[in-house]
Amino acid sequence: ATGTETREFSAEVGRLLDLVVHSLYSEREIFLRELVANAADATDRRRFEALTDGARALPDDAKIRINPEKDARLLTISDDGSGMTRDELVANLGTIARSGTRAFGKQLQDAKPEERPNLIGQFGVGFYAAFMVADKVDVISRRAGSDEAWRWTSDGKGSYTLEPATREKAGTDIILHIKEDADEFLDSWRLQAIIRKWSDHIAWPVTILRDGNEEAANEGTALWRKSKNDVTEEQLNEFYRHLTHNFDTPWDTLHWRAEGTMEFSALLFVPGSRPFEFAEQTRESRIRLHVRRMFITDEADILPSWLRFVQGVVDTEDLPLNVSREMLQATPVLARIRKAVTSKVMGELKTRAKNAESYATFWENFGPVLKEGMWDDAAHRTEVAGLSRFRSTAVDGLTSFDDYVSRMKPEQDAIYYLTGDNAETLAASPQIEGFKARGIEVLLLSDAVDSFWPDRLSSYEGKTLRNVAQGQSDLEKFGAPAETDAEKADMDTLLPALKAALGEAVSDVKATDRLVSSAMVLTAPEGGPDLQLQKLMQRSGQ
Ligand code: ADP
Ligand code: MG
Repeated sequence: ATGTETREFSAEVGRLLDLVVHSLYSEREIFLRELVANAADATDRRRFEALTDGARALPDDAKIRINPEKDARLLTISDDGSGMTRDELVANLGTIARSGTRAFGKQLQDAKPEERPNLIGQFGVGFYAAFMVADKVDVISRRAGSDEAWRWTSDGKGSYTLEPATREKAGTDIILHIKEDADEFLDSWRLQAIIRKWSDHIAWPVTILRDGNEEAANEGTALWRKSKNDVTEEQLNEFYRHLTHNFDTPWDTLHWRAEGTMEFSALLFVPGSRPFEFAEQTRESRIRLHVRRMFITDEADILPSWLRFVQGVVDTEDLPLNVSREMLQATPVLARIRKAVTSKVMGELKTRAKNAESYATFWENFGPVLKEGMWDDAAHRTEVAGLSRFRSTAVDGLTSFDDYVSRMKPEQDAIYYLTGDNAETLAASPQIEGFKARGIEVLLLSDAVDSFWPDRLSSYEGKTLRNVAQGQSDLEKFGAPAETDAEKADMDTLLPALKAALGEAVSDVKATDRLVSSAMVLTAPEGGPDLQLQKLMQRSGQ
């Protein structure tokens, strides 16, 4: 194809551009953070692609260049990264691949002003921040491994054009035509300050062209490799915000170096709040694996999926820089790192669990994810059970299995629980009347995952887990109120009558001592799926 082609943005992009440009005005310097982050991502991508395709090899002096031209009112950000083909320009800059604008718009409205800049990164719409400071943007890109280059141009108002271009080497130039009121972003010192503030830890060199010289703008020190004493809490928090796109402070920061049989540095965070759209994100851990500072992949499953809320970096000496995907899958080095990192995180959670109040914050955010470990990880099942917290009929806040066991009646040998959609409904359920009346504690499990793990865990400290909505209730052990002969006789005629009336709808009708004020209750047969699970299966059409 030759000549210029004009295309409309997808409707979503149009609305989004409007939102970004207008709602983030007071923080518009972050456009530079977003463009530099994209340049660094593209350079990482090319490095990784080059492992399997020599034609895409990265130049030794790969860097990110920032070039302000005051007279021409241009600001150019250039990289030696992967570049984009024509199709990739259309897909990446003309449509929104990830989340919808509606969700973004709503979050933006609800967010405090200081939270807004990070939302941009979270929703994968960073590129459009360029239009906060530019009334026109040119993107000239040449895909690594190809000799074709393309120019993408837009004023951010509904359409963009594409035309063939030339570029000497692979990579991308983002050329901003700076707005009248945005002079500050043509000043090299101002740009330098922005890089220091937002992008200091970018692992590739970032330079600013000043008086004809390329001057280093970032320190590029991999924070995680520094010794603990040389890193301030503020630096850690800033890095956390950059990494997670969160705007709070981490609930926990783990920073350590393993030496001896294994050598690696790790810097991990447990977020202070649940990231937006956490539920829809992938079920795999996204811990970043680096080899001697170089980013390799975030798909190495460093942590099990039920610890996927932990974010951060693991940087090792024990793998070659040119490690391939196949090798990553096979190497025992990674298996050892996984084991060490997992046990460090578990140890830390155990320590932090001693402070019930702060642990409850963590639990509200990530408890449902952690509990998946009781379902799908036999090796850690018991450990996760020990770290789990539950609502219960005996206490106001959260309780643990250990606390439950310490409160058990002498004649009690099971841990009782009930599953359902929410703790309040459960607390009022007729299923537990008989237990409450006898002072026997019942755990109230209301997360979706609670329908699955109890069967797998099956017991804790030798005490069987028993679903009170399933099978016999055991209540006679705890001194059932004596039945009068009249009541017994009533039951003898009532039960067959009820059974006849309900017919196929039930498998049996039995007298029970689990009720106090309610007249009847539905139970699942012993050994069958529990009621909550049956409901879930019905909903998903099984
Ligand atoms: P995100 O970076 O979160 O995906 P952005 O809006 O910042 O969202 O960028 C959109 C996409 O455009 C990127 O995912 C990437 O595919 C592409 N892109 C942006 N800048 C560059 C660049 N300098 N080099 C190569 N691809 C880029
Ligand atoms: Mg981006």
